[in-house]
Amino acid sequence: MDNTVIELVNLTKKYGSFTAVDGLNLKISKGEIFGLLGPNGAGKSTTILTILGLTEPTSGSVQVCGINSTSYPVEVKRKIGYLPEDVGFYDNRTGLENLMFTAHLNGIPDIEATVLAEQLLEKVGLSDSLKKKTGNYSRGMRQRLGLADVLIKNPEIIVLDEPTSGIDPNGVREFLDLIVGLSREKGLTVLFSSHNLHQVQQVCDRVGIFINGKLLGVGNIQSLSQQLFNNQLFVVEVSVSQPPKINVAKVSVAQLQKILLPIHGIRKISIENDVFRIESDTDISAEIAKILINSGLILSYLHKKEYGLDDIYYQYFEGGK
Ligand code: ADP
Ligand code: MG
Repeated sequence: MDNTVIELVNLTKKYGSFTAVDGLNLKISKGEIFGLLGPNGAGKSTTILTILGLTEPTSGSVQVCGINSTSYPVEVKRKIGYLPEDVGFYDNRTGLENLMFTAHLNGIPDIEATVLAEQLLEKVGLSDSLKKKTGNYSRGMRQRLGLADVLIKNPEIIVLDEPTSGIDPNGVREFLDLIVGLSREKGLTVLFSSHNLHQVQQVCDRVGIFINGKLLGVGNIQSLSQQLFNNQLFVVEVSVSQPPKINVAKVSVAQLQKILLPIHGIRKISIENDVFRIESDTDISAEIAKILINSGLILSYLHKKEYGLDDIYYQYFEGGK
């Protein structure tokens, strides 16, 4: 069964001659927490606005639950709860009043809306502040109220555009936990845009790395590593020394090469600060450990290097690729 809820096909958005979003192809499945990770100006917000039907693509198409966002924006907006970067509330009204107002706009009867609003305020941790005017809310409180505001219309999908910017670190953690909890509990699909890789790494099932309007890679962290680091994926670092009875303490690269000869797939062995770096096509860390121990050398350290989003971030965002 195809459980795609958001589908972008060759989506392109130009502003004059400038291409903000460049031929995106992407499918997001039901219940998934998908992270759109990219630096400022990458085109994240433009993509989101197109998904919501708030701006028209120059070419290509967007479908949400099988509905074309450009042709049927009103229907699509019913499916999606959207939390923009800066949520607007009526600052002279309380959190509860603001939620009631949204409920009213969405045709929810007042009695039902009151119960729902109070439940949601409790869920987002604002029960104590429901009668406070939102003008006095902190940035973190506003974002949490924004989440309640998005949820009150019971959407199938929530789209959060840089929801954590300006929130203090503790607040960020709580906010992210809340999103994961909601998605798991209600089967909500979440599209989360952020320039912060650690946050994306913390909560997202899959990530799209988005730079200059293009998706460089899409997948879970592990498969992204494979896509982006396929030339140097498996690296094992080891420290070995000779047994005490041998006078020469240090093991040479040539000696290690000879010992590891029976293992297939080794591409390169190098040494830096007495730590050997063994590059290979497949994960051979267990074989390396076994053969080294059997050789009589003393193995004091073995570490399989995993490439995470940090490395990807470094290579693509800061390495200026
Ligand atoms: P992000 O959300 O990833 O920071 P945006 O989608 O906001 O990126 O912007 C992508 C690029 O498109 C930026 O270079 C931005 O200046 C440009 N852009 C966004 N909106 C407009 C607009 N309405 N008119 C012209 N250029 C725009
Ligand atoms: Mg943006």
